[in-house]
This record gives sequence, C-alpha cells and structure tokens, in this order.
Amino acid sequence: MSFLSSINWIWPAIALAFSIGVALTQYWYKRRNRTKGRVNQEYFKGLNFLLNEEPDKAIEVFIKALEVDSETVELHLALGGLFRRKGQVDRATRIHQNLIARPSLTEEQRLQAIYELAEDYYKAGLLDRAENLFLELKDTATYREIALKGLSRIYQQEKEWKNAIEVTKARRNRKKGGHTKQVSHYWCELAERAIEEKDFEIAAKCLKSALGQDRAAARAVLLKGELDYQQKNYRKALLQWQSLSVSSPKLAGLVVEKVIDCFGKTGDDAGLKVYLLEAIAIPKSDDAFEVWRMASFREFGESSTMQQIVNKLQKEGLSGPAARYLHQKGSDGEIDQKMQRQLLNDFLDRAKDRNIEYTCVGCGFDVKAMYWLCPNCGEWDSFS
Ligand SMILES: [Zn+2]
Repeated sequence: MSFLSSINWIWPAIALAFSIGVALTQYWYKRRNRTKGRVNQEYFKGLNFLLNEEPDKAIEVFIKALEVDSETVELHLALGGLFRRKGQVDRATRIHQNLIARPSLTEEQRLQAIYELAEDYYKAGLLDRAENLFLELKDTATYREIALKGLSRIYQQEKEWKNAIEVTKARRNRKKGGHTKQVSHYWCELAERAIEEKDFEIAAKCLKSALGQDRAAARAVLLKGELDYQQKNYRKALLQWQSLSVSSPKLAGLVVEKVIDCFGKTGDDAGLKVYLLEAIAIPKSDDAFEVWRMASFREFGESSTMQQIVNKLQKEGLSGPAARYLHQKGSDGEIDQKMQRQLLNDFLDRAKDRNIEYTCVGCGFDVKAMYWLCPNCGEWDSFS
C-alpha cells in the first residue's frame, strides 16, 4: 500500500474507531449494571489500540464489545461500509450478515443491511448471491431503483443480455425515456450473438429493436451491414456501411476490408475508386491498412498511393500502421526530400499544440497534467 493511500484510510478509520469508542461509553453508562465489567475492559483495550495508532485492531475489539441493538445498528452499518470501501469485503460481509440475523431490526434497517450485503457480494464477485438479494430488494419502494441498477450491472457483467434489457426497461418506467442507448447496445449484443450462430432471422429482429431504442445507433447499422454480408447481399451491405462513412467514420474504419471485398464481389470498380479516395479515413488497424493500401496500389499505382497517404495524414493525424509504412519507405529512400520535409513540418506543427501528456494505463484516460489518482477509473499511480 502506498504512503498516500494509507493516509487516506488511517484517518477515517481512527475517527470511526473513536466514534465507536464514544458510542460504547454511552452504551456502557446506560447498561453499567448489567455488563459493566466486560464492556469496561474491552473499551479500554480498544482505546489502547487506538492510542497506539492501530485502528484496525481497535475496531475489531469495539465491534466485539458492541451488541447489535437499535442504538448501534447505524454504527455497524457505517463500519461495514467502511470495510468494503477499504477492500476488506470479508469483514464487511460478516458485519452485515450478523446484522441481518438480528430479530430486533426495524424493516428499514433490515433492508439497508440486505442492500449493503448485496454490495459486499458484488464486490467479492459472488454475483449469484448479489443477484438474489437485489431481486429481493427490487420489490420494495425504497430500494427498487438501486436494486434494478445493481441487477443491470450484474447481467451486463454476466452477458445475460435479455435480463439486462428487462431490468433496464423497468428502471426506465420510473424515469421516463432514459437508458435508450444502453438498451440498444444490449440488443446489438444479442444480434451479434445471433449472427455468429447464423440465426439471421433473430439477428434481424434484435437489430430492429436496437434501432427502435436508438434510431441513431451506429453499431446497429454496422451489424445490419454484417448481417447482409453474411447472407451474401453485398450491395445492401455496402449501402449500410457506406452510410457510416458520414455518420460515424470511426466505425466505418472497422469494416474497410469487407467493404473493399463487397466492391470486388459486385464488380463495382468505379465505386471502389471513389471509396478509396474520398470515403474512408486511413484505417487504424494493421490488417485493414494493408488491405486498403494494396487496393489503392492496384487502382492508382504506388506513388499516387503514397501521396494519398501523406495527404490524408495531414488531415487526420498520424496512426501506427501509416507511420510504420512511411518510416519503412523513408529508410528505403523512397520518399523524396521535399515530401520528407513537408511531413516533418506538419507533424511538428501538430505536436506543438498537443495537449495530451499522460495516459492512464488502467483505462486509457488522457490528461494534460499529472494525477496520482485517475479521475476516470479510480486507480492509484496509473499515469505514465
Ligand atoms: Zn484510469
């Protein structure tokens, strides 16, 4: 554990242990006739740990000394939540299970303890158990929304898309019109699976539903093209995919190879030329770049293809495959001095305005200034 993150944990823990100590004192005064000796002893033991800056041990002692009753439920809940946040899910689980077993809880307290336990299970990766508890909470007024949200997280993780659709739609009934993108993606997941299984009729229905949720769902258009392609309807596939070049150029880049294949299969040479020259950005993946470059080479010849790459890079910025290609050509002496100078100038010009300096290795988040804690994924020390 790094110095900074231990500081982060120690102070709240000491504060919490201290407040448990205070509560325990009050508790002890109230019941001194019954439990005086035991609690007194435990209390001072806990206090001792606290003074020695061992909040973990202090908390353990206090927890043993504290009976669960209506006055201490909140403390137990706070403590359980703290353990979970600290990553000590076992301890959190024990506290919450212990709470639920008490008959003295009010209904509201019991539901809260069940919710906390569901989060413990979720964090521990016991998704079936978490699911059962969320299902129980889903029919209560207070926890309905939060339980449906928990269920949708689980189904998403488990790739149970039909269930995910159902619970996400149930969330929407209360908050009208929300989550349409999310549900559209779930339908796309189902469509992808159906296409893989060659169940084209189901796939078409899923895609219709996806577009019904989100009319602008580019992923659904991409998959409609795929569905046509798989069924050898190459012209239809081309129509779908070419519409992406305008609405969603990044996605269009994913199907460059198949689009070029479609032009070949339909014998549309003029269409291919237009596509290679105008419709498509330089592909970002090595394979697609190679297919695009070879097709350009066949249609326009090598020097024209290289000039095209340079022109496109000036508009779009550098990408790995194109840079490797130019680097190779430069080392082979196949790029003339003028073009080299032009390229260098252009890239330096772009780099001077660049405002990404650090990237999180956990999630790929780009920032200009250095952070210790990634604001996107919550990882420590993740910027390089
Ligand atoms: Zn991150």
